Amino acid sequence: MKNTSETRDKLKKIIYKFFKKEIYQNIRDSRKRKTIHAIELSELKKSKFLKLINHAKIYSPYYRTLLMNNNVNSIDDLINLPILTKTIIKKNIDYIKSTSEEDLKYIKKNSTSGSTGKASNFYSDKRDKREARVIRGDEFVPNFNFFDKQLIFWGAERDVISKKSLSYYFNKLIVKKQIVSTYHLTEQDINRNVDLINKFKPVTIVGYPSALHFMALQIQKNDNVKLSSYPEGIISAGETLQLHQKDIIEDVFKTRVYNRYGCREVGHIANECIEHNGYHYNADDLIIEVVDDKGDLCKDGIVGNLLITDLNNYAFPMIRYNIGDLGSISNLKNCSCGCTLPKLKTIEGRTFEIIHGTNGNKVSGTFWTLTFRNTVNGVEAFQIKQASNHNLHINVKTNESFSFKEEEKIKQIIREKLGEGIEIEIHKVGEFEYTKTGKFKWITSELSN
Ligand SMILES: [Zn+2]
Repeated sequence: MKNTSETRDKLKKIIYKFFKKEIYQNIRDSRKRKTIHAIELSELKKSKFLKLINHAKIYSPYYRTLLMNNNVNSIDDLINLPILTKTIIKKNIDYIKSTSEEDLKYIKKNSTSGSTGKASNFYSDKRDKREARVIRGDEFVPNFNFFDKQLIFWGAERDVISKKSLSYYFNKLIVKKQIVSTYHLTEQDINRNVDLINKFKPVTIVGYPSALHFMALQIQKNDNVKLSSYPEGIISAGETLQLHQKDIIEDVFKTRVYNRYGCREVGHIANECIEHNGYHYNADDLIIEVVDDKGDLCKDGIVGNLLITDLNNYAFPMIRYNIGDLGSISNLKNCSCGCTLPKLKTIEGRTFEIIHGTNGNKVSGTFWTLTFRNTVNGVEAFQIKQASNHNLHINVKTNESFSFKEEEKIKQIIREKLGEGIEIEIHKVGEFEYTKTGKFKWITSELSN
């Protein structure tokens, strides 16, 4: 059995090398850097950073002006540059773009998915090696190799490959990757998806936590739907993973969830490893800074705004880009998984998922999960919406354990954390609506910006 699969692997590698030689080389290089020595990493970052800065100075009219007025000779000098925001990109998109003819051959128009309701445009560089980083991240799942079977539940239509295309057959036959749309996920779709898992027997399953959680709940409550094949790991991607989702997914799929963190603008950023204690980030391709709301650097472990400098995007330089997520850097130096890439300690989620109090306090998803799951009885699911500092709208799906007493308890816990002045409306609802892509907005604050 082993010999057959080894021969198949060898064959797949040869075919892959032939068709996608460059990507294959990038994957191998990325893998090697998983155990890079700290000094070598520092040298690599420094040389890539200076190359990017010098390139931007010559070819990006926006950065030419900025870099003329601000001295940037090392990574430590980054603090001298202003933060790149979505608003600045919108206003200066044509000035940030490189004027180099060589760069323009690789430029690709792109846009964010607009989870906040506002999609924004930018450009990617086809040479940015993001595919290799995703693969390196997925390989944190034990016993998973890029050539193993992977099933992807995805909602972004542009990423779901057409069944008529060459890429579809290439993925299916060579890479053993199948992508299934989570558009309009219904109970019928769940049955079909479970059948697919049982027949295809993927080593890893990738998906939005909302969609995977919805599937797990359906499998849990429906005795006729049974999983007979369990993956080595589940990779959660595309939105913030909430604790209560993670628990149910792990329980139903009988494996651990590995959180993958990334975004459209820079691609894959960080990944959980077998330790499940922080996220190794791609320090060989990205520089991450954490700053407070005034723009001052935060110490390790302190949560702030994540700023990313993409060291591989020459066509549209993104330097100190405020990605719109909160997180902190870990000071842990040696991870027992063997990977030497540094770690983010926490990723608190998107800034629009942060609820603001009248007392200045801010809370992220974990606060709500702990409140509704550990402290209050009878809440099966919840949804929080904040339109103003003084008002909080909460939808809850409850069971028979829920009572007026529990409702009062929720209000008391929230007021203790977010201030007495906050008005809290709690509404009981039947079922929650998922977005058409299979995502679910647990928390939305309109105060994020
Ligand atoms: Zn690790």
